[in-house]
Amino acid sequence: MRGNPKFRQLPGVDELLCDERIAVLHDRLAREFIVTLVRNRLADIRNLVSTGGTSPSFEEIVDAIVTEAHDATNVSLQPVINATGVILHTNLGRSPLSAEALQAAELASRGYCTLEFDLARGRRDSRQTHVERMLCLLTGAEAALVVNNNASAVLLALSALARRKEVIVSRGQAVEIGGGFRIPDVMRESRARMVEIGTTNRSYIADYEQAINPRTAAVLRVHASNFRISGFTHLVSLEEMVELSRQHDIMVLDDIGSGCLIDTTEFGLDPEPRPQDSISAGADLIFFSGDKLLGGPQAGIIVGRSDLINKLARHPLARAMRIDKASIAALSVTLIHYLKGEPLQKIPVLRLISAPLEEIERRADRWAKFLGEPARVIAGHSVVGGGSLPGGIIPTRVVAVRPAGRVGIDKLARGLRQHEPAVVARVEKDALVLDPRSVFPEQDDALLKAVRESLGRQPL
Ligand SMILES: *Cc1c(COP(=O)(O)O)cnc(C)c1O
Repeated sequence: MRGNPKFRQLPGVDELLCDERIAVLHDRLAREFIVTLVRNRLADIRNLVSTGGTSPSFEEIVDAIVTEAHDATNVSLQPVINATGVILHTNLGRSPLSAEALQAAELASRGYCTLEFDLARGRRDSRQTHVERMLCLLTGAEAALVVNNNASAVLLALSALARRKEVIVSRGQAVEIGGGFRIPDVMRESRARMVEIGTTNRSYIADYEQAINPRTAAVLRVHASNFRISGFTHLVSLEEMVELSRQHDIMVLDDIGSGCLIDTTEFGLDPEPRPQDSISAGADLIFFSGDKLLGGPQAGIIVGRSDLINKLARHPLARAMRIDKASIAALSVTLIHYLKGEPLQKIPVLRLISAPLEEIERRADRWAKFLGEPARVIAGHSVVGGGSLPGGIIPTRVVAVRPAGRVGIDKLARGLRQHEPAVVARVEKDALVLDPRSVFPEQDDALLKAVRESLGRQPL
């Protein structure tokens, strides 16, 4: 290798480190990491040259190292103004936290806290104590357990309760939620054997009954969070499942997806399954997310029978899936909003969903007036999204921007995404669409400034 004459033309590590543009990288990167970048770059070039490629010039090598150093030290997670109208947008971080929840998370993280410590007795305690009583009071459950997210909650329960046993699922509910969460795969990982019954569109209680045998551990209901089957359909109710399972001494496990505690029909939406309804129907364990319609931090919440919750808490996987202190703190304050009867005032996603159309229209009018010629207010639909309420659309007023001439819609969208703060909007066939419903009113001015600048107008 060393004998290859082409390698002799490559700059040395020290030569590159002395280059002025690389030397100033010390501002953002410690020397040892600059050396690593330089060495990696030279190794890549040697590979390239030995397979017949030509070496880049000295300047190009320096450029590449400088770019990598900037990329490596860039804080890429940044805030976004969500003008898409999708309220629970998984790619944009699902539910924003209330000011109080955020403050609790900060306090818990800033210094030490009573995460697993009982101040009165001066001894170790469980982190679950901070939320368990609240969850029981809100849902009517005997016990509760909180883990990292809902996918892990379901995996934990199946692993702890149904390993090497059978779990019955309707074919219409052996679904994929997105992001790789597929019920059949989760079953396989837990070593539970999935027994599918019925057909995609119809299942009856008799289908469940026929599938029960001495190896059956549970029936699992999964909420079809992100799609709707309509037409010739039949689904077995939770009450029927509970009645059957009691006759055969098996469990009813209920993955309701979004942990919605309020009645969504008040906002003209479809009913969303609520944990308290599943508890009163008699389900043994119920699973839901903390950061969907509940409006809290990422979490997987399990409520139900205390003997089962105890088994889950003692399972080794529970430790691997445990929730962190900032999330526990934010979740407890989010739950307090419900307990105080103030969820619609305090919880951001519920504030957005329940914002009256007149208020949205007023803001849309102001936006359009400010933006002038290419902007117009038209009727549209906001989407709840995020794996809840598949038919969940809410009437809204959007501002459609049809940029004239040189600034195309895509170019405008790109300009908004690269703006600081970034704005993400909906690109439709003939317009860029901005929905005030998913934008917090205090962000209006920043959004308008971004659109104006991206349209190529003078900044204000
Ligand atoms: C969203 C969803 C999940 C996954 O929840 P995460 O909190 O994202 O892990 C599981 N089941 C159902 C029915 C869902 O809607």
